[in-house]
Amino acid sequence: MNTSLLIKNGVVVNADKKRRADVYIDEGRIKEIKKSITRPAGRTIDASGCFLFPGGIDPHVHMELPVRGGHSSDTFSTGSRAALFGGTTTIIDFANQERGGTLSHALGEWMSRANGNSFCDFAFHVSITDYNDRTRREIRECVERHGVSSFKIFTAYEALRIGDADILAIMEDVAKLHAIVLAHAENGDMIERVTAKHRSHGKHEVKYHPEAHPVEAEIEATTRLVDMALHTGCALYVVHITSGEALRRLAGARKAHARRKRLPSVFAETCPQYLLLDRALYEVPGFEGAKYVCSPPLRGAADRAALWRGIEDGRIDTLATDHCPFTMKQKEWGLGDYARIPNGVPGVEHRMQLLFSEGVAKKRIKPERFVELTSTAAARVFGLYPKKGAIMPGSDGDIVIFDPEAVDRISARSHHMNCDYSVYEDLRVRGRCRTVILRGTVAVDGGALELPEGFGRYIPRVILV
Ligand SMILES: [Zn+2]
Repeated sequence: MNTSLLIKNGVVVNADKKRRADVYIDEGRIKEIKKSITRPAGRTIDASGCFLFPGGIDPHVHMELPVRGGHSSDTFSTGSRAALFGGTTTIIDFANQERGGTLSHALGEWMSRANGNSFCDFAFHVSITDYNDRTRREIRECVERHGVSSFKIFTAYEALRIGDADILAIMEDVAKLHAIVLAHAENGDMIERVTAKHRSHGKHEVKYHPEAHPVEAEIEATTRLVDMALHTGCALYVVHITSGEALRRLAGARKAHARRKRLPSVFAETCPQYLLLDRALYEVPGFEGAKYVCSPPLRGAADRAALWRGIEDGRIDTLATDHCPFTMKQKEWGLGDYARIPNGVPGVEHRMQLLFSEGVAKKRIKPERFVELTSTAAARVFGLYPKKGAIMPGSDGDIVIFDPEAVDRISARSHHMNCDYSVYEDLRVRGRCRTVILRGTVAVDGGALELPEGFGRYIPRVILV
């Protein structure tokens, strides 16, 4: 059977340039890109009027995340299927070490959830919550044996946070291996102090959530982490930046790294919810605001404008989602106490459509920059490039045929995520993923899924020195 695929008449967009070309894919990989390809193929798709983007990479998702009382509502099966509908062909989730547990156990757990269930390709960062001699040996094993090139640390949350001494030691270990540290940057003590005050004053409503996660908590932790990264020579990626000031400090640190001629640098991620949604949503009467409870929280207009500038000028490297959905029933665990509302919003399905609509269609960014933010930068930072993140000969045949003129309305009634609401309900968006191709196989076409469950593969990553 001829399994080759020929895509004709599209505009191929990479992070550095775009051009009209045909693309020939065989055995899962891109074989040829040329102005006109006429050879016969198993399947030919006409992409006239469409962009061809490299398959999206969402480097920050949480499928089936165990939380007190349950799991985030998307499994690897439902979440990865939603990802594909939205043009994301690779997700990177987090395998979280338990206190007293090992990294390999965590990795095994997450691998067993994803393997055979994921529709799209996947990889894992490993989160370190308990640093000791064994953990230290295991960091090396993760890199050398399991293809894990990124380790996450938290500066907040009782069950997850570790102290500065451990963070410094991890950064030293990770720097020696030329891997990278990801960080959730919020000052945990500030959060706990405000939350305790709220409790003692009977302030339990959702509207107090953003107050408990003050912007200073994010700025302080970001500043501390970038300085520790500079000190240890470790590459650092700060997840979900929400504030203009945190971004400014991160960008300053990047210059300091460059002045020291250090290749490892600091990288910034933000998410669509921080670019598009306002903290006023927490003030909606009743429990409605619980839908938007995530940490760090949504901020105001000035921060959104600053983040958009970072999207435009290159100071933000990647757009991820921090996809971590909970149904309204699960959110209700926090009825009467906002601090018990499970944190997270659904988002994996609409990342590319939202950035195209708000970014490219509104002329804030060019299609090339869109590709960098949704795919190429994540591939480079996390060791997937050039297998993923580019449309070029030798790369995996992960391609999104994107119709820039289509118009959609986002709604929980039509989305594929396992969540009974959307934080973008009724938002009109321009542009739609018409066909999504994973390793040369059509995954989604015209709104229909064509892949079997479990098609997604674990993608071991390499260290890029
Ligand atoms: Zn997260």
